[in-house]
Amino acid sequence: ETFRTISERDERIGAYLTLNEEGAKNTARRLDDKLASGEERGLLFGLPAGIKDNIVTEGIRTTCASQFLSNFNPVYDATVVRKLREADAVTIGKLNMDEFAMGGSNENSSFHPVRNPWDLERVPGGSSGGSAASVAAGEAYFALGSDTGGSIRQPASYCGVVGLKPTYGLVSRFGLVAFASSLDQIGPVTKNVEDAAYVLQAIAGYDNMDSTSANVDIPDYLSALTGDVKGLRIAVPKEYMGEGVDAGVKQQVQAALKLLEGMGAVVEEVSLPHTEYAVAAYYLLASSEASSNLARFDGVRYGVRAGQSGNLLDLYLESRSQGFGPEVKRRIMLGTYALSSGYYDAFYLKAQKARTLIKRDFDQVFEQYDVIIGPTAPTPAFKLGAQVDNPLTMYLNDILTIPVSLAGVPAISVPCGFSEGLPVGLQIIGKPFDESTVLRVAGAFE
Ligand code: GLN
Repeated sequence: ETFRTISERDERIGAYLTLNEEGAKNTARRLDDKLASGEERGLLFGLPAGIKDNIVTEGIRTTCASQFLSNFNPVYDATVVRKLREADAVTIGKLNMDEFAMGGSNENSSFHPVRNPWDLERVPGGSSGGSAASVAAGEAYFALGSDTGGSIRQPASYCGVVGLKPTYGLVSRFGLVAFASSLDQIGPVTKNVEDAAYVLQAIAGYDNMDSTSANVDIPDYLSALTGDVKGLRIAVPKEYMGEGVDAGVKQQVQAALKLLEGMGAVVEEVSLPHTEYAVAAYYLLASSEASSNLARFDGVRYGVRAGQSGNLLDLYLESRSQGFGPEVKRRIMLGTYALSSGYYDAFYLKAQKARTLIKRDFDQVFEQYDVIIGPTAPTPAFKLGAQVDNPLTMYLNDILTIPVSLAGVPAISVPCGFSEGLPVGLQIIGKPFDESTVLRVAGAFE
């Protein structure tokens, strides 16, 4: 049925890059056998899942929406993909994204853009645009996305679905093609909060294949969904409700806060004073890490090879010039510059210091509050093409999601209403490894 919906709708939406029809049929057969034999069913039994195309899948093409990997067939599964299989989910296909997860509108895909199911003239957000659009359009029951600076939460907000970025280290990154390793996290994109809890339950947990995986006990996320927020202390940063945030967005967020107050929560204004440095620090750090991580794409080890007639250097240069799109090149250049000797102290080191200050802002607020709430993005989805010529405005859209990524804390985006007919997302930010409270507050809206 999911494949029928995809064939009806995806020509217009563009969420998928690769479909896994044969594989899905095989899984369905395996699940039928399981049912017949009366074996215990997995947590996500039979649910059709879309996987962002920067998460490797054995034998299913994995492109990162880059020409460089247009012919890349991984020989192993990412840990999250293995876990989904063990939970009896069905992999439907691989989802479109900004190339190597760099972008906020999905317009950096080197294949084709994704359109927002709510308004086909608008972007679905990015970089997990395919993940959010597929769930919103019913082309997947749930999806996995990755979030480095907002790439799960912002598209979820634009497409009116739920997107959860877990605490850094909660979900294994083994098999996630690295963009900025100190920030990247995989998380669920779902229709509702309960589904997010189910998917998180299935994918969270320690993995010795990921050296930054956290060895923590995994709670029962489903039992956190009590709907009870009485006495809960909610902080609203004034920096998240100030200038630059659309009036329509603010209005919906304020209405949501009123609702929580009505349910017995305490809502107070706080300050995260270093918010203004977050975007600059993030683009330096993420690009620096990207310049190092993407060095492995040399035309020899993975993907497409060019310049075979010349020497080895030509092979590298031509493969990289042809394989990477403009935004990826921009980041590699910025990152290489920020890391070069002579500039390291002025840029990379300073950005690291700013990151520490931003993290401390969160620590301080969490001494007195259970969650922090604000909008996920300053505006609803914008029109395709509206920001492609100006990377800086595009970068500034991330102002409300990036600080969370730099601090490594968990956050969810849940739909909280509409502004001018377009969905608005509410961002609920929690203490490290306190996904339970984040889900509980988010669930109170359902
Ligand atoms: N928009 C941000 C960027 O372009 C976030 C990307 C992400 O989270 N993968 O870097």
